[in-house]
Amino acid sequence: MHPSTWAIRGGRPEAVNDPLNVPPVAASNFRLPGPDGPDRDKVYTRSEGTEVQTALETLVGGLDGGAGLAFSSGMAAAACVFNRLAVGSTIAIPTDPYHAVAALADEGEAQGRWSVTRIEPADTVGWMTALRNCELVWVETPANPLLDVSDLPAICAADRPPSTVLAVDSTFATPLVQRPLAMGADVVMHSATKFLGGHSDLMAGVLIVNDGQPELAESLYQRRLIDGGTIGSLDAFLSIRGIRTLELRVDRACRTAMILADRLEEDSRVGLVRYPGLATHPTHEHAAKFMERFGAMISFDVLGGGHAASVVASSTQIINHATSLGGVESTWERRSVIPGQERIPDGLIRFSVGCEHVDDLWGDIDQALSAAGQ
Ligand SMILES: *Cc1c(COP(=O)(O)O)cnc(C)c1O
Repeated sequence: MHPSTWAIRGGRPEAVNDPLNVPPVAASNFRLPGPDGPDRDKVYTRSEGTEVQTALETLVGGLDGGAGLAFSSGMAAAACVFNRLAVGSTIAIPTDPYHAVAALADEGEAQGRWSVTRIEPADTVGWMTALRNCELVWVETPANPLLDVSDLPAICAADRPPSTVLAVDSTFATPLVQRPLAMGADVVMHSATKFLGGHSDLMAGVLIVNDGQPELAESLYQRRLIDGGTIGSLDAFLSIRGIRTLELRVDRACRTAMILADRLEEDSRVGLVRYPGLATHPTHEHAAKFMERFGAMISFDVLGGGHAASVVASSTQIINHATSLGGVESTWERRSVIPGQERIPDGLIRFSVGCEHVDDLWGDIDQALSAAGQ
């Protein structure tokens, strides 16, 4: 089954008279059997989840091709991967990962829990070296917010000891753009708050573990049980509902993003445009090698610098001036105002392209650029 079909088919009840959708199950607790009863499948929701959490895990597991685990947020999922490491471990992360992932890594290092190496997303040799020397190698591609693409096929195929975990934050891509487990990664993480959920109405995160790594899956399951990051029932239900239209949304948004990236690049009011689908993007060659689409995230510099970019970002009527991404509704914001993102160009706007009509979006961009006197 293609991922686009599984997004619609996966995680549904199968028996006659079953509802087509698993409803949200409002229970923290399950009735236990007597002394000779059957094995217990569900006991307590923080541990096993309810039927709807299980359905979401089946659904996302099939999309990326592994065993799914669902969390209350993307950061709960990411923290689970970090927090299972033994004290004294070494970790490699990108130079500019998602800011809360950077904080997680840096704070753990400051506390003496592990040491952290930072690697440029495009430095394939750097990643290969890290794979030989680190317990956890955390790749994020496309990376936030410059949209650099790592050479995933080369990194996933590189030699590494069995104890090294190669994790990929695939949030900006979705399983319809890249499938790291099929290339050989050990675990994939998505903030389902973004494209998987797709409507900016929930918080959720997922890990999908390679089927060849049952011990890793078990240790992540135990870690989640202890830390308590299991997803809530209603958010699991909403996540499934969002994923049903994943292909429609992602396909539309990626097509629109390509058109808008081309138009922005030709516009004299705009500086550098960063979109992995543009031949001018520094890592376009990596992207063209394995990405099935080029994603729905664009970053561009407003000529005129930080203040002009802030005026542009807040002068829209259709595009929402908001921080998050991956919804049917377009959002954008100036990124250098985020703490820890000082390396980001002052006038850079990160744009999450939604599903509105491309001409309406372009009209909005055009008038916002004009409002800044650009
Ligand atoms: C949003 C995001 C996260 C964190 O996810 P939350 O659901 O906000 O906790 C991690 N990585 C990337 C790339 C993200 O965009």
